[in-house]
Amino acid sequence: VSTTAYTAPFDDMLFVLFDQLGVQSTLAARPDGLDRDGLTGLLTEARRVAEEVLSPINRVGDAEGVQFDGAGNVTTPATFKEAWSTIAQGGWVGVSAPPEHGGVGLPHVVSSLTTELFFGAATAFMMYPGLTATAARMLANFAPEHLRDLVVQKLFAGEWAGTMCLTEAGAGSDVGSNRARATPTAEPGVYHLEGEKIFISGGDHDLTPNILHVILARTPSAPSGTRGLSIFLVPKFDFDAAGQLGARNHVRVSNIEHKMGLNGSATCTLLLGDGGPCKGWLLGREGEGMSIMFHMMNEARVGVGIQSLGVAANAFDNALSYTRERRQGAAIDKLRDPEAPRAAIVDHPDVRRMLLLQRCQIEATRSLLYKLGHWLDLAEQAPDDAARQTWLDAIDLLTPIAKGHVSDTAFECTVLALQCLGGYGFIREYPVEQHVRDAKIFSIYEGTNGIQAMDLVGRKLRQRGGALFMGWMERAGHTAAAARAQGLGAEADAIERAVQGVGASAMHLGGLAGQGALPRAMLHASTFLRQMGVVVLALESLEQATVAARAIAAGDARPLLAGKLLNLRFYVGNLLPLATAAGKILTGDDGAALDEALFA
Ligand SMILES: Cc1cc2nc3c(=O)[nH]c(=O)nc-3n(C[C@H](O)[C@H](O)[C@H](O)COP(=O)(O)OP(=O)(O)OC[C@H]3O[C@@H](n4cnc5c(N)ncnc54)[C@H](O)[C@@H]3O)c2cc1C
Repeated sequence: VSTTAYTAPFDDMLFVLFDQLGVQSTLAARPDGLDRDGLTGLLTEARRVAEEVLSPINRVGDAEGVQFDGAGNVTTPATFKEAWSTIAQGGWVGVSAPPEHGGVGLPHVVSSLTTELFFGAATAFMMYPGLTATAARMLANFAPEHLRDLVVQKLFAGEWAGTMCLTEAGAGSDVGSNRARATPTAEPGVYHLEGEKIFISGGDHDLTPNILHVILARTPSAPSGTRGLSIFLVPKFDFDAAGQLGARNHVRVSNIEHKMGLNGSATCTLLLGDGGPCKGWLLGREGEGMSIMFHMMNEARVGVGIQSLGVAANAFDNALSYTRERRQGAAIDKLRDPEAPRAAIVDHPDVRRMLLLQRCQIEATRSLLYKLGHWLDLAEQAPDDAARQTWLDAIDLLTPIAKGHVSDTAFECTVLALQCLGGYGFIREYPVEQHVRDAKIFSIYEGTNGIQAMDLVGRKLRQRGGALFMGWMERAGHTAAAARAQGLGAEADAIERAVQGVGASAMHLGGLAGQGALPRAMLHASTFLRQMGVVVLALESLEQATVAARAIAAGDARPLLAGKLLNLRFYVGNLLPLATAAGKILTGDDGAALDEALFA
């Protein structure tokens, strides 16, 4: 049975973009004349890069890993360099960045799609350009003016790379415990940094001649906690106004981590100011470190969701092709007949169940994540501040779901994909075990999923007096009404009841918080994230089925459309009840886990 490389789910990607979100109509306002055909051509090239350039390096990166020479230098697998130049020269690092920053200026929703393609094909490799783009977007807003154009263009062009450095040994989830120090120098805006950062993705490598680190640190008189954090741009090599490299700065890798997965991505310990001064420029003003970081937070978290989606979709594609080829046993109604032909395992009911569990969650996730990209485009094009804020609020509320629920379900999907391959799934020769190992980190970095759940319950539900949550319930009502108009009343009713169930859980949590029972409320936060996540994806499935039903009624015969109706039926029958169960768990309000006698 063949092992398969990455094959992009391109038809489904275009379905979301054009059939569901109608992105073509927003293109009309563009001055460059880009239309649906032009965009499809561009995305076809992105697909080629994913399938032909990135997919082949994914396993090599995993097997070879990265090398550390003990003297501060990290080497990536040889094949990574060609992949880097393809991504850099193709303009893919800054695909949605504005042209004045050296980007291509395409809508954010387009970058959601290319992110899925590239991270789906080679997720560990893509950590390097992915974090480079994140750093570039932050620097575009906050770098000192005399450096801004230079560094942002270098990063978006892929000439230099970037990192984001928050974590320290004593400061993981608790970012406020950061201890790295930054002391002002005689030169305005320039500081010397000291301390140690750990787990820094892309902390060193050989893909670019320079690396720009964005680092959280504390100035001498700063208050404790997050309020006292500032943020700095720290280059590997100093540079002049023309971008010519100068002296080596004293930011140096002292170690790399040996990990369960994501092996092609260097995860580094960085020493700041070891053996000489570590020069950094202040971004924004002193004490603004966390608020500047917050600007990037939603985008980076949704980015982890898209990364999770890409890997889960790749694993699913592998599982599907394997189950179509592998023959075992007879069909269930011919079990007693030894002469019966051996069936492809895709025909066994339990295997079909596992495949559909993956497919309907993956496709609903794609719908959710591309939509968040589309909403960001709509926010940027909004006619006034109020309209803009409505889109941003909608994104804000769903961000913990897009990171937390999506990365959890994506990991579960990779495990199901492995199960579809039986013993071969456990074997290195087949790619799925790598996907399982790679996908585990998505629930951990960029704020663990426990922290996402607390963010949803403790902040997002209460934001603007609950207006974000009410907005979500209102949109859910519109989705259900549109579905009823296409004959999907039974499914719409079931999902609307589940939306009400999420509302009841939110009320219950609000009640606990009101009584001062905060530990109790937070005990249920992850259960709430799961409940709301299941319902959010159900709504996406409902919306996709509505679009499909409308197209079928208009004579469109694409098989993908019938698949959307089956996805919805399966989701409502097999996954939606998990939200009901979560609601019962939550409102049942068991507090045994908080008993002081436990773990004493
Ligand atoms: C491969 C990899 C790449 C990474 N890349 C980067 C990077 O590029 N830049 C960077 O800055 N960092 C990076 N990290 C660090 C990552 O963001 C942290 O590991 C993560 O934030 C969790 O911190 P921690 O490991 O200290 O775990 P801890 O904070 O110790 O958490 C351990 C457990 O306790 C829970 N927990 C902690 N505090 C609370 C609380 N208050 N309430 C409830 N539960 C809590 C957590 O949810 C978790 O389950 C990377 C890590 C890895 C493994």
